[in-house]
Amino acid sequence: MAEMREPIESGCPDPWQYMHPVMRKNFGMWKYHEHPRPGVLLHVAYSGDKIWTVKAGTQRILDVFTLRKLCDIGDEFADGYVHFTIRSNIEYLVSDEAKVQPLIDALEGAGFVVGGTQNSVAMISHTQGWLHCDIPGTDASGVVKSMMDELIDEFRNATMPNRVHITTSCCQINCGGQGDIAINIQHTKPPKINHDLVANVCERPSVVARCPVAAIRPAMVNGKPSLEVDERKCICCGACYPPCPPMQINDAEHSKLAIWVGGNHSNARGKPTFQKLVAAGIPNNPPRWPEATAIVKRILKAYKEGAKDWERINEWIERIGWPRFFEEVELPFTKYHIDTWRGARASFNSSSYIRF
Ligand code: SF4
Ligand code: SF4
Repeated sequence: MAEMREPIESGCPDPWQYMHPVMRKNFGMWKYHEHPRPGVLLHVAYSGDKIWTVKAGTQRILDVFTLRKLCDIGDEFADGYVHFTIRSNIEYLVSDEAKVQPLIDALEGAGFVVGGTQNSVAMISHTQGWLHCDIPGTDASGVVKSMMDELIDEFRNATMPNRVHITTSCCQINCGGQGDIAINIQHTKPPKINHDLVANVCERPSVVARCPVAAIRPAMVNGKPSLEVDERKCICCGACYPPCPPMQINDAEHSKLAIWVGGNHSNARGKPTFQKLVAAGIPNNPPRWPEATAIVKRILKAYKEGAKDWERINEWIERIGWPRFFEEVELPFTKYHIDTWRGARASFNSSSYIRF
């Protein structure tokens, strides 16, 4: 008899047990897929089996009542199999076409929005924000809600030149991603240190080591061991704040939002690209962040009107050039948007990690 294996209590559970039987049966044997309508995908296997995927947006931070409602819809109108996507959408899988429309009707009747497939503005991928994380300078969830309220028709329909992936990040250093458009926090002032607390709360060598430009030094302040920041070197990244909360970097006035465009992980037709900064110093203005939303809408409008079919945002900008991009989205183009690398040696040598 085979030896029993101890259960592994970390990591993802085995996905096979949750997979729709049609997907299990045809794993790796799919012939093609189609997009019968926004929010629905049809996959056809070599065996002739078909499976429909119906996608609906969720608010990501889900309460148990909403989760139960989503699961009840899955049990009643689908085949009881769902998965969540990386962008907080729920996908229902059905192997009978007759179930697709009643499922959509049930979802929309319960207030969920079906869409987010193919050339739509997909749900914004967002970080935790004020509700869950200990270092955010803004509320990614709130920014996402405010923006998606205004972009809902672009989620519901698939009328953009290509798909649009928007991301947020509520600090400058951690889990936010890059995307076709990214809305990221931007600190503009060095941290303010509460010297009374540093010795009790912070492991000073770790904090010194965290700084990417070696701007932090140990110091004695008012007779207590503390830290000091060389503000000429500090790049206001906020990396010292998580290990040392008395080095407060979040600020109601000086923590802003920045918008970046053209990030693309895909390498289907060209190399992946890094996003580039196009708007900085945007007010971090809860609860609706109207200034940031207005800029994102202008970028999407110009992209929708100006891009050729299937051009992603980075490809559209590459074709028309940055000067025209700034004109079309009515954003000021300043010298700070250009990095010619003339100062690269000095910048790199201020880093504690790279020297040349
Ligand atoms: S982006 Fe930063 S602040 Fe936001 S959830 Fe991630 S680690 Fe926390
Ligand atoms: S870690 Fe970042 S914010 Fe903190 S002192 Fe260094 S550069 Fe400034």
